[in-house]
Amino acid sequence: MEYDDRLRQAQRTKYDCLLFDLDDTLYPLNSGLAAACRKNIEDYMDQKLGIEKSKISEMCNLLYKTYGTTMAGLRTIGYDFNYNDYHSFVHGRLPYEKLKPDPVLRNLLLSLPLRKVIFTNADRVHAAIVLGKLGLEDCFEGVICFETLNPMDNNNVSSDEGVDSMCGGSVSTTTGSESFDIFGHFAQPNAGSQLPKTPILCKPSEDAIEQALRIANIDPTRTIFFDDSVRNIESGKRIGLNTVLVGTSQRTKGADFALESIHNIREALPELWEVEEKSEVRYSGEIAIETSVRA
Ligand SMILES: [Mg+2]
Repeated sequence: MEYDDRLRQAQRTKYDCLLFDLDDTLYPLNSGLAAACRKNIEDYMDQKLGIEKSKISEMCNLLYKTYGTTMAGLRTIGYDFNYNDYHSFVHGRLPYEKLKPDPVLRNLLLSLPLRKVIFTNADRVHAAIVLGKLGLEDCFEGVICFETLNPMDNNNVSSDEGVDSMCGGSVSTTTGSESFDIFGHFAQPNAGSQLPKTPILCKPSEDAIEQALRIANIDPTRTIFFDDSVRNIESGKRIGLNTVLVGTSQRTKGADFALESIHNIREALPELWEVEEKSEVRYSGEIAIETSVRA
């Protein structure tokens, strides 16, 4: 038995899941979507929330840096809006026609003998449109999105459901309140000490990443996390994920690998494709025993 255990251990592959961010990770930053998204967010802050135009750009940066997404920041400091309304305004008008089918990436993904899951802060509709435009809609086991981590209406979404059904509906209308003075707060010498806590779960919060891993039943130590955001990668690393920073060849703190493009995945991580070949050789060749390769 001891021998079997050792063999089983040796046959255990290092990774069994790949967790991918969506925007600016599965398609390049220069596609134009990110810039358009930023413009739409600023327009929303102006047209829907009535925020003073001269403050919008700086507030947008500050909230994004502090709370993970501008939306989470706006909600946290007291702005009253409907999440679906925000998403349809910000994402619904994006120039999706700029995204083209990517058969190279599609073939790479389909040839990988591992679980593949999307983890995005964006909403379900946006994720579906982007994956459709890229021609990748059938390359993933499931999508963890805004609605997955923030199921506001308890509408058939709970934390113990399978990942396939994790993008349930979500509507939320918050009640109005005095908005927190984020500029005034950061002007104080001890800024950061008494910030209001966000009610929205999103990357790079470690709680959000851990919740996503629980929902998709993912073991971080056996998973590779791909994201274009340095801070998301840092958080992922802190909770035990293997990490790949996408969009640059410069590795940063917390990144095990760095890829200029997701297309370089095979050159950087050829072992991902060797998983089954090696296992099969061992299993059917040298020693014949009744042991599951993917035990
Ligand atoms: Mg991204």
